[in-house]
Amino acid sequence: MKLDVEVLRYLSKDDFRVLTTVEMGMRNHEIVPAELISLIASLKHGDTYKILKNLLKHKLVHHDSSKYDGFRLTYLGYDFLAIRTLVNRGVIAYVGLQIGVGKESDIFEVATEDGTVLAMKLHRLGRTSFRAVKSKRDYLRHRSSFSWLYLSRLAALKEFAFMKALEDHGFPVPKAVDCNRHCVIMSLVQGYSLVQVRELQNPEVVFETVVGLIVRLAEHGLIHCDFNEFNIMIDDDEKVTMIDFPHMVSVSHRNAQMFFDRDVECIYKFFAKRYNLSFQDDADDKNSAESDIDEAGRPSFSSISKSSGCLDKELAASGFTRKDQDNMKKFIEGGADNEEDEDEEHVSETHENSLTSLGFFADRRSGRANE
Ligand code: ADP
Ligand code: MG
Repeated sequence: MKLDVEVLRYLSKDDFRVLTTVEMGMRNHEIVPAELISLIASLKHGDTYKILKNLLKHKLVHHDSSKYDGFRLTYLGYDFLAIRTLVNRGVIAYVGLQIGVGKESDIFEVATEDGTVLAMKLHRLGRTSFRAVKSKRDYLRHRSSFSWLYLSRLAALKEFAFMKALEDHGFPVPKAVDCNRHCVIMSLVQGYSLVQVRELQNPEVVFETVVGLIVRLAEHGLIHCDFNEFNIMIDDDEKVTMIDFPHMVSVSHRNAQMFFDRDVECIYKFFAKRYNLSFQDDADDKNSAESDIDEAGRPSFSSISKSSGCLDKELAASGFTRKDQDNMKKFIEGGADNEEDEDEEHVSETHENSLTSLGFFADRRSGRANE
């Protein structure tokens, strides 16, 4: 693992002071006026400008002079703020290779001072459909300027809260270690995602386990909503771990049945296609009085959800509030309509290059394919 948190020292305390000031300013300004940054940072006037120039050089802020002289944070700038906080808290000490890239996240290996390797997920809501965020300004009217920071922070908060709760209830999930801004630190799952694994010794067992997880989640009041071969990790002993929780909803959600059936369908389809599992006989094998199975032999949402537990309600009482949930839901549901929208103001298109050029992260992915 490349050891690069030293690079944080490229940036002085004052650099971070100015960066934090830009972050704060974005609560009320799409582009934070340079004058305001200078005022709040309360450094010597010339110093703030010198620092902003340095931050700009490292692509931690973006300069915009279309209306007035101002700056906004880039994803990279936000990454640095989160990583610095986590380093200062003693949660991580090193940042290593990128091990995963999702539609709305980047995953890196990180390590603690004593060398324990963990995973760091940086949420990037709006990366693929930033325009969708903009088009939803009605509900983010007062926050449009920092909507992507805000939504990514919510996604991280939600993921962290759900991961912790699921772990407490004995679900096979990564251990949630800490969370700051849009960044979640969790244990590193050994193995590969199901989609990367070419062969399984016991596909039937894995299939049963995975479907069992969807059912058990619903029994606890929750639906994953993105339960598929990309979000199920499997190790050499074919032990299953589920990941990726920002989309989870309660069984009381108005579309719960559809989400549940979609999760189930994904798994059935995948195992039928890749492992030629046939489910035709299931319905006959099961006792028809067994209420949790429908006529097709698949888990039946309506009967499972009748006796659901209330993990969904516990979570609503956690740091992730109902209002947070609503804001995210509006974004996700609204964003889904615009998913194909490519964004000209793509916030992170040069992101990876910037990370690499700073030496902050290693410059290649580890290529964890099974084959
Ligand atoms: P996204 O929301 O962008 O899909 P995921 O949480 O699914 O993000 O992560 C993307 C990929 O990163 C996963 O498919 C997996 O390969 C890898 N990954 C995510 N979390 C971990 C982890 N805790 N340990 C190991 N690999 C992980
Ligand atoms: Mg995923």
